[in-house]
Amino acid sequence: PATSMEELVSLCKRRGFIFQGSEIYGGLQGFYDYGPLGVELKNNIKAAWWRTNVYERDDMEGLDASIIMHRMVLRHSGHEATFSDPMVDNKKNNKRYRLDHLVKDQKADVIARVAAAMGVDAENFPALIAALNADPAKASEALRAAGVRDAFSGEVGEWTEPKPFNMMFKTTIGPVADDESYGYLRPETAQGIFTNFKNVVDSTSRRLPFGIAQIGKAFRNEITPRNFIFRVRELEQMEIEFFCTPGTDEDWHAHWLEKRLSWWEAQGVPRSKIEILDVPKEDLAHYSKRTYDLMYDYPTLGHEEIEGIANRSDYDLGSHTKNQSELGLVARVEENSDSVAKLTIPHPETNKPVVPFVIEPSAGVDRAMLAVLSEAFTKETLENGNERIVLKLRPHLAPIKVAVIPLARNKPELVDLARTIKGELQGLGLGRVLLEDSGNIGKAYRRHDEVGTPYCVTVDFDTVGKGEDPGLTDTVTVRDRDTLAQERVKISELSSWIQAKLR
Ligand code: ATP
Repeated sequence: PATSMEELVSLCKRRGFIFQGSEIYGGLQGFYDYGPLGVELKNNIKAAWWRTNVYERDDMEGLDASIIMHRMVLRHSGHEATFSDPMVDNKKNNKRYRLDHLVKDQKADVIARVAAAMGVDAENFPALIAALNADPAKASEALRAAGVRDAFSGEVGEWTEPKPFNMMFKTTIGPVADDESYGYLRPETAQGIFTNFKNVVDSTSRRLPFGIAQIGKAFRNEITPRNFIFRVRELEQMEIEFFCTPGTDEDWHAHWLEKRLSWWEAQGVPRSKIEILDVPKEDLAHYSKRTYDLMYDYPTLGHEEIEGIANRSDYDLGSHTKNQSELGLVARVEENSDSVAKLTIPHPETNKPVVPFVIEPSAGVDRAMLAVLSEAFTKETLENGNERIVLKLRPHLAPIKVAVIPLARNKPELVDLARTIKGELQGLGLGRVLLEDSGNIGKAYRRHDEVGTPYCVTVDFDTVGKGEDPGLTDTVTVRDRDTLAQERVKISELSSWIQAKLR
């Protein structure tokens, strides 16, 4: 695995996985562009998630809802009121900071002093963050007294009192900008699932329990975007809302925790690198009955959230439904006189309308990319003493499945045959197959090691009957990324050989 974030950032830029957004104009903080290989890896991760969670189950439907949503959706979801982080401005350097980030960036002794001032155990970091967020005034005092760097480094009075900052991007809809003509870019994909609950039930005749899965962009105006693609302002999420009968929710929560850990494992992110944080009661959002945060051990950053799996009770559908008072809701919801839909479904036993409980596994695609790349990143010393970097990606995630390389770029018979073979392999539908005719076989191998291409197929003079061994006519060399073993394979058998290996 990678040992630092820097080596990942450098590989991603060098080989075309990830670039800074708007780079030629100086870059835009918190926005990244996925390059030729990044888009393939990202698509492969999303396809693997979709396959496991939609195709391989019998209780799931898919959805692709719009990104811009009615302001009422984000009002009744609670985001207008509470989707905010406490922020302080440093008047001296004109920068904004998030309170918890200020704390996270400090050394252990500083954190210990802050925790002591807040009356919280320094070992219980989530509790410390929650305490800081709950009482910003006391927090700022504690931070200053502990000598927290950066925003608090200056004299008293150089920074503002902490105030909540709403992270939603607001946008004008239509030609007239007035008080009612705005909407929001969704800050999570989940709300599109809740608002379509009735549509999906009516159009598919689903009964409890069942889930709706969605992958898509979400937008958060993070106060301090940082750590490469770990915290960005335009992100992508893979979310499931799994609807179940109240009372069965705890079992389903356990089910999803297990399913999600085994999915991560299948992507090359082992359980041993993921800590399960059973979020303490006092740190839970008020609507959450219980939440597991999966904390992956990122290089340089340490354990940080890669996915949250929450038991959200009947809060979401209860918040968006009409006739709330008749439905016996468990969650504390704000009154809703705007919704025109009753978001209930027949109880499987009594047939009476019930607002289901929701289990929500919510993973970030960008954070998945970072974890997958980090686990695959390998530095090896070869027998000849040379060092190589190789991305040991699971084949289903590899951006390029096979590179077909003519040994010489200026020999049409080699290049033409390589192109024909490329076309044939491409037709297998395994993903991208690349014709690599840069002319330097050593460089090609190094490049394909670094981008994780499982197999390189080389067309040489023996292949076309012009080498030293006529017995090798109509065969190619196949090189294995991980073992470096080279095998001669008949062209006529190449497709089935590759197919068997990449299945
Ligand atoms: P954090 O505490 O790190 O800000 P969160 O608890 O706000 O994350 P959720 O609202 O639970 O995150 O979002 C679900 C998932 O979406 C997270 O587990 C993460 O993978 C991803 N995610 C959230 N915010 C970002 C972001 N700014 N950049 C990249 N991914 C994100």
